[in-house]
Amino acid sequence: MSQRILIVEDNKTLAKLISKKIETALDFKVDVAYSMSEAKLFLKMYKYFITLLDINLPDAPNGEIIDYVLSKENHVIVLSANIDKEFRRNILKKNIIDYVNKGGVDDINYIIQTITRLQKNQNHTVLVVDDSMVFRKQMQNFLQNLFFKVITVAHGEEAMGMLHTNSSIDLVLTDYNMPVMNGLELTYEIRKEHNKNDLGILALSSSQDDEVTALFLKAGANDFIKKPFSKEEFSCRINNTIEALENIQIVTNHANRDFLTGLYNRRFFFDAMMSYEEEIKESGERYALALVDIDHFKKVNDTYGHDVGDQLIVALSNILSSSTNHRDLVARFGGEEFCIVFKNINRYSALDICQRIRQEVENFSFQIDKETFINFTISIGLTIPDPEDESLEEAIANADMLLYKAKNAGRNQVVTELHE
Ligand code: GH3
Ligand code: MG
Ligand code: MG
Repeated sequence: MSQRILIVEDNKTLAKLISKKIETALDFKVDVAYSMSEAKLFLKMYKYFITLLDINLPDAPNGEIIDYVLSKENHVIVLSANIDKEFRRNILKKNIIDYVNKGGVDDINYIIQTITRLQKNQNHTVLVVDDSMVFRKQMQNFLQNLFFKVITVAHGEEAMGMLHTNSSIDLVLTDYNMPVMNGLELTYEIRKEHNKNDLGILALSSSQDDEVTALFLKAGANDFIKKPFSKEEFSCRINNTIEALENIQIVTNHANRDFLTGLYNRRFFFDAMMSYEEEIKESGERYALALVDIDHFKKVNDTYGHDVGDQLIVALSNILSSSTNHRDLVARFGGEEFCIVFKNINRYSALDICQRIRQEVENFSFQIDKETFINFTISIGLTIPDPEDESLEEAIANADMLLYKAKNAGRNQVVTELHE
């Protein structure tokens, strides 16, 4: 069920145009009201993600609708053709998200971009660090109005503790002047553990400490905001920082993941294994490596076509992901061949999991259309390398040899060194 957006605008042509553009570009159901009284009826019926409000309506000529809609706890974007500075400033004092011009195509595109941004903000958590309760509360309001999840803490140590227990935090917004650990010290502490691309830091400093902004940037802050600031500048800087982090995430995902299945690709697998091998040198932890290959996959392609073959690969990748835990590595090596590394595991558990995966695939029916189901099987070569004297390449070659044995022995089976 898609969420709803309410447009209140008495210019019917414009209202319809904006509504149509939003429904085409985004997954929202749009309601249009031409007056405040109509808007009231809609607001009684539905909960809105966003309301777009004209401030000059036949039954509410001076922006009366804004306070009404805000009092019903809705998020507001104001539409206006009025560019009087004083008027604009007064409107922006209210708890609205943005104030946008209306009329031009660019304006509508800006509205769509803003809504898209707000939707994405819902997935981000911001940690606000400030010793002033009043300021914390204010930041929290601003950020929640932009749809962020917000956590607030009163000082640097509390912030470090929160970062250790809460891995969902994407952005830290920190004040400079705080007792015990100031914002700059906090930035240094955070950067020992998280780099700029994983966790954003936005610093707040007052205009008296001019050199502080440069120090913040050198310490690894992504950006800074000088107090006092306008709400518009605040939301632009926050959104810019979050957008940069998202873009880095997208690029990284493209580089590390297989396009079809979203699993790790071969290149990332080798990178990740290099750091893992470093890590286990000290702990002596053992791992298991399995090569998985679909049996007679060529027949699937030949019978049902390449697209169905692709879908089958995706279905298998889902089974593999859900059968492993979050530390394990599941990679698509190419074609219908996958590699799994089970971390910190013994031979018997690894064999047990592989057998269960093999069985699950055998039991699984892949539905192509209403009447057609395909059943398929996989073969697995499983090896438990001794990291002391076996390289990753040797381990993979071993697993490949075991996989070959599984194929020769009739397929739909797991072969490991145990069987020799
Ligand atoms: P077996 O492994 O049991 O020996 O038989 P097989 O038929 O699976 O053998 P093989 O590994 O030789 O064939 C794999 C086929 O997979 C060959 C290729 O056309 C097809 N293939 C490779 N990559 C893809 C892909 O991304 N999508 C689809 N649909 N097919 C692919
Ligand atoms: Mg095959
Ligand atoms: Mg193959």
